[in-house]
Amino acid sequence: MNWKEIGELLSNPRQIVITAHQNPDADAIGSSLALMHWLRTISSHTITVIVPNDYPQFLHFIPGNSEVKVYHHTKMACESLLQKAEVIFVLDYNAPDRIGEMAGCLMKSKAVKIMIDHHLNPADFVHYTFSKPSASSTAELIYSFMQALGWEDNLTTDAGTCIYAGIVSDTGGFKHALTPEAFEISSKLVKLNIPLQEVSNALFNSFSEPRLRLFGHCLANKMELLPEKAAAIIHVDEEDRSRYDFQPGDTEGLVNYPLMISWVKVAVLITEKDGLVKLSFRSKGSYNVQNLCQQHFQGGGHYNASGGRSRNTIQNTIEQVKAVLPVMIPDSMPEGGI
Ligand code: 5GP
Ligand code: MN
Repeated sequence: MNWKEIGELLSNPRQIVITAHQNPDADAIGSSLALMHWLRTISSHTITVIVPNDYPQFLHFIPGNSEVKVYHHTKMACESLLQKAEVIFVLDYNAPDRIGEMAGCLMKSKAVKIMIDHHLNPADFVHYTFSKPSASSTAELIYSFMQALGWEDNLTTDAGTCIYAGIVSDTGGFKHALTPEAFEISSKLVKLNIPLQEVSNALFNSFSEPRLRLFGHCLANKMELLPEKAAAIIHVDEEDRSRYDFQPGDTEGLVNYPLMISWVKVAVLITEKDGLVKLSFRSKGSYNVQNLCQQHFQGGGHYNASGGRSRNTIQNTIEQVKAVLPVMIPDSMPEGGI
């Protein structure tokens, strides 16, 4: 990174567009809005945050949420903003295919493109790449980015709240992907008086009743355990969705639950939307799901948390997952052995 060049670029008023990945999560929205708030303290920039598609209601608490534009809702306006932009930030994604249809316009834009991201294998489509796969979250990297530019002291409570939301969410509430920086930054944020408890409640304790019952149903009736592979697979179909008044984002986080079983090392959630089957993988320890997703399901992500997709039916996808999961002796035996 040429910090001097970037510092000069961002010290003068610019037309800036901040983009994040499809199906944005708290890290994508938190990072984008943190950067928006923070950069506004540096110069009188014109800044717009654009995400490819809509996101769940429980993320609306993130300060600045009402300013986010959804490409699918206002394509023409977003395309014009991307075209006119002098600087485009690429946040929390590493390749154009992670923003779907919006990629065409982004790639055509003559803006200076800056990636800030923590996914493995960043693609070569931007001018500046600030990528650190070992980082807990992109939010952590937004902090490091502004710190490297000498603007740490401009952090506002709103920007801090956004950063904290990203770190808390991507670490599952300080449970995984932890780094010294995640703690150091959080410690500084606590001193800024950000609403810590409200952020955790909004992220983790804001289920609707049907959503929690859907989780219960899936864990009781839809979780298949594969002891010889130290694995668990859950699939959610149309019947489950209609029974529990499904809202977009309602299965978010469900994939983590099978990992609560001591011997389960990898959990897979298979869902279907608009004819496309979506897979989510989570693992414990030295089990690399990024490789599995990249090799077999046109996806990727992180070592212990990755996603992918399939054009097969749900049933065939389940069979495909079973075929590609390696045989593995669990560290601790399931009851009754394997
Ligand atoms: P999730 O399972 O929550 O959808 O995604 C887990 C992680 O994998 C996230 O960091 C996400 O960015 C990444 N991911 C999810 N789906 C895909 C995909 O289709 N392609 C790639 N490259 N990464 C994905
Ligand atoms: Mn992230």
